Amino acid sequence: GAVSGSGNLKQVKLERESELRIEVSDEPLRLRVVNGTAEIFGSELPPEIWRTFPPRLKFAVFTWYGATIEMDGVTETDYTADETPMVSYVNVHAILDARRRSAKASTSTDSGSTQGPRVIVVGPTDSGKSTLTKMLLSWAAKQGWKPTFVDLDIGQGSITIPGTIAATPIEMPLDPVEGVPLDMALVYYYGHIQPSKNVELYKALVKELAQVLERQFTGNPESRAAGLVINTMGWIEGVGYELLLHAIDTFNTSVVLVLGQEKLFSMLKDVLRSKSNVDVVKLHKSGGVVARDSNYRKGSRSSRIQEYFYGLSKELSPYANTASFNDLQVFRIGGGPQAPRSALPIGSDPVSNPLRVTPVKIDDQILLHSVLAVSYAEEPDQIISSNVSGFVYVTEVDVQRKKITFLAPSPGALPSKFLVAGSLSWLESVEAR
Ligand code: ATP
Repeated sequence: GAVSGSGNLKQVKLERESELRIEVSDEPLRLRVVNGTAEIFGSELPPEIWRTFPPRLKFAVFTWYGATIEMDGVTETDYTADETPMVSYVNVHAILDARRRSAKASTSTDSGSTQGPRVIVVGPTDSGKSTLTKMLLSWAAKQGWKPTFVDLDIGQGSITIPGTIAATPIEMPLDPVEGVPLDMALVYYYGHIQPSKNVELYKALVKELAQVLERQFTGNPESRAAGLVINTMGWIEGVGYELLLHAIDTFNTSVVLVLGQEKLFSMLKDVLRSKSNVDVVKLHKSGGVVARDSNYRKGSRSSRIQEYFYGLSKELSPYANTASFNDLQVFRIGGGPQAPRSALPIGSDPVSNPLRVTPVKIDDQILLHSVLAVSYAEEPDQIISSNVSGFVYVTEVDVQRKKITFLAPSPGALPSKFLVAGSLSWLESVEAR
């Protein structure tokens, strides 16, 4: 029988290959599978067990062979849909799976044949890119592969806080609530949520990340055969398009999955025509994808930061640390002219250098409420090429006593004294949604 609940129990019977689409309201929702089998974005739900879904989450419970779902709570919306693109998505998975098997079985010394598929998912905002990425990863993990997830979406990424690009091996189907585990992630801090803020820096970080993964693959045939699944931003026009081409090239992508846009598909098909080893595949967008407005996006960015410091359901408490100005060095990347015009040779332009690393003076309030990354760099000139160990949130700058107070997810000294600032800030008091 049902565990005691809010008295809003509802059972939904799903036919084969259909899904229950849910938008959680401002209250959490409990849900379980009472009959048959069902999955959320590629990750199977265990039978009978109640799961709690946080407010405002949007998801679908899909069944291949039929299932009965029980919900406890009031949703924003819930409805059943029997028209989904899931069969076409799982067909893509089957092809990738075959390529992984042949990469694993290959005894050739040619590195190309031991390399599993490198898949990139592209499309406009709200086309379901992140969702398809999650499904492909979970289905692969379910079959024992450990594909590498690369998230290049600095606005609505799934690995860690906004403003970052990151990669991590996926060893188990992704939990629909907990998301992507962070403990093995390789993270680079870009520091802004718009790629246009510093396109050169974005490209440089993508390149760094790709090079590190390439090196890791050399020593790890298992992850090499499992390949990559790359999620991208929804910015597909102008410079956004250029950045997609840059990513496709930098990661040596072999499969480009284009979601929900004919024009982008035909443009990519055209430019990649000369590359015989790249497949460009057009896929339908799911009717279940929910468009999110800028307020919602802002809210979810803010909750990603909150989750980093406080945990998913505020079960963690971050550590407040105080350091002296002298013990830390904060840097900013790019921006600002290299030198005043008067100091430059006549006729030259005081152009800014997008990859210049400049120290930031801590002695005013400019860093208050910023999110700073803790770099693994050993010298300031290694900051761009270094990944980060995590983030701190500046809660107080005491100019008189020359002390800075910040929250960190773990106690003790920071692993490095080099911090990186961007334009990312977070007002804790406004309370992330
Ligand atoms: P962006 O470009 O902003 O990153 P996206 O293309 O990656 O967007 P998703 O994040 O995959 O889009 O999907 C948008 C929202 O729709 C998400 O909240 C996701 O959980 C939800 N969603 C996707 N597919 C379905 C579905 N079939 N049923 C219900 N909700 C869905």
